[in-house]
Amino acid sequence: MGKIILTGDRPTGKLHVGHYVGSLRRRVELQNTGDFDEIYIMIADAQALTDNADNPEKVRQNIIEVALDYLSCGLDPEKSTLFIQSQVPQLCELSFYYMNLVTVSRLQRNPTVKSEIQMRNFEASIPVGFFTYPISQAADITAFKATTVPVGDDQLPMLEQTKEIVRKFNSVYGETLVEPEVLLPDNKACLRLPGIDGKAKMSKSLGNCIYLSEEPEEIKKKVFSMFTDPTHIRIEDPGKLEGNTVFTYLDAFCRPEYFAEFLPEYANLDELKAHYQRGGLGDMKVKRFLNNVLQAELEPIRKRREEYQKDIPYVYEILRKGSEKAERVAAQTLKDVKTAMKINYFEDEELIQSQVERFK
Ligand code: ATP
Ligand code: MG
Repeated sequence: MGKIILTGDRPTGKLHVGHYVGSLRRRVELQNTGDFDEIYIMIADAQALTDNADNPEKVRQNIIEVALDYLSCGLDPEKSTLFIQSQVPQLCELSFYYMNLVTVSRLQRNPTVKSEIQMRNFEASIPVGFFTYPISQAADITAFKATTVPVGDDQLPMLEQTKEIVRKFNSVYGETLVEPEVLLPDNKACLRLPGIDGKAKMSKSLGNCIYLSEEPEEIKKKVFSMFTDPTHIRIEDPGKLEGNTVFTYLDAFCRPEYFAEFLPEYANLDELKAHYQRGGLGDMKVKRFLNNVLQAELEPIRKRREEYQKDIPYVYEILRKGSEKAERVAAQTLKDVKTAMKINYFEDEELIQSQVERFK
């Protein structure tokens, strides 16, 4: 069996540095290892509509933003299939059948869905589509027989749900679907990058993001407004690293060579941290360093984006071709699923023959 990746993003805004360290950077690395037979990257517009049904224009506008972010980070359409979820109708059909394998109470227990419902103030008016999106995510993953799903840790409950559906399906209807493995970032700071406000997760919906395509001035402004240690008032005070967003970002982005380039008086991040904890190192100096690091990381991405922006029809063409390929693959899986479920009435000669016998 081949090694296959499926992952994606909701087109609810431009992608931010949380997406980058949580999943996007890893995807590009995995793509370039050549170890995978197929890589599918999905722009989850249908999922985005589950909580943006009244604003389809927002989703429509952001598809191209996400596609540009993908290309500018180094996803290569020659090596990875970039596609749009809604253009693969087989995914809906798969979801429809999987729904019978999941209970309402199981969905209600999903911690990510729970916290997202809270965050969106849905209270009693949760759209059914939103409530069931973990099932639709199982359809996305299994349609491509994905073995590997590189995501941030907020997606763990979705992967659990997918595995349960796969097991249930295979046990009821016979071995058909592939059970995927989640691939989390190995760097702890990247599992769930906090927002610049120090809130638990950088998220488009919370407005606490640094976007991949952000202008240098804007990056600087955001870095200098970042949450640090509120008890670290004077430079000589000892500072805390826990919950200190600036250090979390350094953990996520800093490469050893940046010290020689931007902060040669320290050999590495451990030395910088030790000094901060001892006291005598001001927030401004650390923020200046982080700003340099982020500028160095984001500049090549922004430059590549500028190039792709010059040929938008080409980007749509990539998505069209990718969606066509994705549809072919999903159609095969749907066929396997329907055969396993015995809802392939017209292709089953035996069925027709047995009915002939029955009514003789
Ligand atoms: P929304 O608020 O619309 O849900 P989002 O910012 O949560 O948007 P998604 O499109 O839901 O983004 O997530 C896409 C991928 O990026 C997922 O794999 C998710 O785990 C990862 N991701 C999102 N935010 C972060 C973050 N702050 N840190 C690490 N990974 C993240
Ligand atoms: Mg999300």
